[in-house]
Amino acid sequence: MSYKVECPRCLGGKGFIRAYSHIQAGVCFKCGGKGYTEVKTNPEKLKAAKAKRDAKRQEEYAEREAKRIQRFNDLKEKYSNDPRIGVLCMERCFKSENYAFAVWAALENCDRKGIEPGINITTH
Ligand SMILES: [Zn+2]
Repeated sequence: MSYKVECPRCLGGKGFIRAYSHIQAGVCFKCGGKGYTEVKTNPEKLKAAKAKRDAKRQEEYAEREAKRIQRFNDLKEKYSNDPRIGVLCMERCFKSENYAFAVWAALENCDRKGIEPGINITTH
């Protein structure tokens, strides 16, 4: 059993590729001018499998994004008003969430290791 699917090479060209019209009248070499190829797997099945993969990827992305937001909010609650953050650094935190994220994560890392944050956080 095989299934006819539109030729992926001349897609919509019905067996011809206009750009190659100077070579053998542009007949598509992949499908031999038929405009379709035959495959062994049911294209509907492939489509369904792809849709499933896409949905899973979407779900994983949403999960990662939710975790990221959760982590951002956790760090924000703990460190956004940390007195170790210098005035300039604090200003930059207000301007950029990514910057703030990095600063808060750095502070968390310092606390975890029991070390002092760098001068780029405390005085810059
Ligand atoms: Zn073709």
